[in-house]
Amino acid sequence: MAIDFSKYIASVKDFPNKGIVFRDITPVLQDGDLYRAATHELAEYAKSKNADVIVGPEARGFIVGCPVANELGIGFVPARKPHKLPREVERASYDLEYGSNSLEMHKDAIKPGQRVVVCDDLMATAGTLRASKELIENLGGKLVGAAFYIELPDLKGREKLPDVDIYSLVQYH
Ligand code: 5GP
Repeated sequence: MAIDFSKYIASVKDFPNKGIVFRDITPVLQDGDLYRAATHELAEYAKSKNADVIVGPEARGFIVGCPVANELGIGFVPARKPHKLPREVERASYDLEYGSNSLEMHKDAIKPGQRVVVCDDLMATAGTLRASKELIENLGGKLVGAAFYIELPDLKGREKLPDVDIYSLVQYH
C-alpha cells in the first residue's frame, strides 16, 4: 500500500518568517524505512523518464536527489549557491517563496543530450526549478521531469513550467 508521507512531514508555523508554514521533511529522513521508501518512489519516477542524471539544488535537493541517483546507478549533479563550485560555472537567478538567489552548475556537469530529472524536497513557486531548467538546457541537457517530496499547488508552479512533467509525493493546499 502507498505510504501517506504527509503523516511524517512536520508543519512549522511562522518559520523562517511570520506567515510562512514551513514543511519540514526531517522526520522522514530520520526514519530509515521512510527515507528509503520516499527515495524509491522518486527513483521509480526518474526511471520511468529514462533519466541519465539527477540534478539536486542546494541544499535539500542533495539530501533528496543523491540517494535517488545512487539507487538508479546514475550520476548526481549539484546545483549550488554562488561561489561554492571550484571550476568554470554556468549561473541562473531565481526567486524564492521568500527572497531570491542564484544557482550554479559546473559547465561540464551535463553532457549534451543527457536526460535530466531534478529532485528536491519541495516545489513552491517553481523558481528553483526554472533556474535549474535554464542551467540544464544551457549545458545542452534535456529536463525530462522533476520529482519532489512536497508540492504547494496553490503557488501555481506548474503553470510557470507547463512543458515540464512534475511528480510529487504530497500536496499541501
Ligand atoms: P520555489 O523555488 O519552488 O519557490 O521554492 C522551493 C525551494 O525552496 C526548494 O529548494 C525548497 O527546499 C525551499 N522551500 C521553500 N519553502 C519550503 C518549505 O516550506 N519547506 C521546505 N522543506 N523547503 C522549502
